[in-house]
Amino acid sequence: MSSTLQGKHRIAGRWVASAAKSFESHNPARWDEIVGVFPLGTVEDANNAVAAARAAYPAWRRTSRIRRAELFDNLAQLVKRDTDSLAQLMARECGKVVTECRAEVVEGLHMIQYVFGTGRMPMGDVLASEVAEKDAFMRRKPWGVAAVITPWNFPFAVPLWMLGPSLNEGNTAVFKPSEDTPAIAQRMMELFEEAGFPPGVVNLVHGDHVAGEALVKNPDVNIVLFTGSYDVGHRIQQLSADFYDRIVACEMGSKSAVIVCEDARLDLAVTAGVVSAFKTSGQRCVSAGRILVAEKIMDKYAEQFVATVKRLKIGDPLDASHFTGPVIHQGAVEKVEQYNELARKEKADILLAGGRMNGGAHGKGCFLSPFVYRQEAKPGIRTVREEVFGPHLALIPFENNEDAVRIYNDVEYGLSMAVITEDYRAMRWFRDECEYGMGYVNLPCIGAEVHLPFGGVKKSGNGHPSAAGLIETVTHKTAWTVNHATEIKMAQGLTTDIAKV
Ligand code: NAD
Repeated sequence: MSSTLQGKHRIAGRWVASAAKSFESHNPARWDEIVGVFPLGTVEDANNAVAAARAAYPAWRRTSRIRRAELFDNLAQLVKRDTDSLAQLMARECGKVVTECRAEVVEGLHMIQYVFGTGRMPMGDVLASEVAEKDAFMRRKPWGVAAVITPWNFPFAVPLWMLGPSLNEGNTAVFKPSEDTPAIAQRMMELFEEAGFPPGVVNLVHGDHVAGEALVKNPDVNIVLFTGSYDVGHRIQQLSADFYDRIVACEMGSKSAVIVCEDARLDLAVTAGVVSAFKTSGQRCVSAGRILVAEKIMDKYAEQFVATVKRLKIGDPLDASHFTGPVIHQGAVEKVEQYNELARKEKADILLAGGRMNGGAHGKGCFLSPFVYRQEAKPGIRTVREEVFGPHLALIPFENNEDAVRIYNDVEYGLSMAVITEDYRAMRWFRDECEYGMGYVNLPCIGAEVHLPFGGVKKSGNGHPSAAGLIETVTHKTAWTVNHATEIKMAQGLTTDIAKV
């Protein structure tokens, strides 16, 4: 059994053991294994971290943008050095299979590399002026202090999607990771320290909603960058409404979908569906909770889909041969089981009964096998509309492509969508008519890359895409105009002739 980490907050460049209560993080595959013990952040801890970020802000903002970016180059080297150990720790703490954790560390690395690259790229525009003697610029400025509040399911990449652009553009930050994955956050902060980020530029407060809400309520926080569930994101938006200049970026839940058209290549469509629905045990924000299938091929598709799902290897996340591991905790097991039960009550046609895996090594952890059912997208059917966030999937028939769009859009979320078709007209139809942030053709509806915007619409996001897209949120654009003449000439023919006024 691996050693137990002793975590601390990191505030103003010091590792701080809070006097308050502590909490444990567990291995979801073997619940009796404690990964680490961490201080449960209080309102005071959160406020101290904001004060540290505020104090560090002026010097950090005045630091050369290129120098700031170079610290990310240092960080990239450290992440490369530690890729495997980070992946192992992540697999132990969040239950994702180690190959998937490695891919997530690499995704975090890509974000760091992207951010480093932008250090020497333009940070604004040079524009023309109506007056020949004037030079006009659009220049970006940081906002100040960012609160970065993140979920457990991408404990390395998602924080870096937000911390990377924020810090690179000159903001300072307080990072509040999920209470389910504090160990990986702790390791990340150690790497920021080793990379040479000055004290107070990036602070870490462990804990739950208490620390999270304290950050949101602190008037010295200029931007809140949140990724997590809709309910929490909505609460954060409400709490922030009292701050007149508060920027709140919320990336939230989904009921993402794969749409399998009548002309789809069946093998490709099955692989895309299985990966979309059950990779990470259905616990990606973009996981497909629905696969919409053309009625004419539904029977054939369902048969091949279920046969493939039955072959998936589910087990210890540290064993790279497994397709997926456990869900995050017992609460998640219970939530998925309630939705499986609801599907039965809603008279779904159950194709694979799924549920709790209690035998052998599975019995020590939070393992669930996939639940697959066929259901019509009728009004009032909750299972085909609500986010379950686990291995629970509906196969939904549709008559034609117009019908598919109607069913796809008939949910409150709009995050990710994939369409499987050989017909270029159909691709365009779905691209233009479906409501989503990330769209894919002949691919699963998972698998983002950092240089593309990542965000959704409706209850999935409020229009501030993350990763590379976040530069628009963490800076404000200023107009800067300089006159090189010895007299004043105004745009629009406006006179400056004071004597005639
Ligand atoms: P969650 O909403 O329960 O928690 C997210 C974070 O918010 C945690 O750090 C938590 O401590 C904090 N928090 C909880 N209550 C708070 C409050 N009142 N004020 C401030 N902070 C508070 O989410 P989770 O269970 O960790 O993650 C799963 C959810 O995240 C799913 O809904 C998933 O779809 C979503 N998600 C979305 C994206 C995206 O980019 N759209 C990415 C990953 C996950």
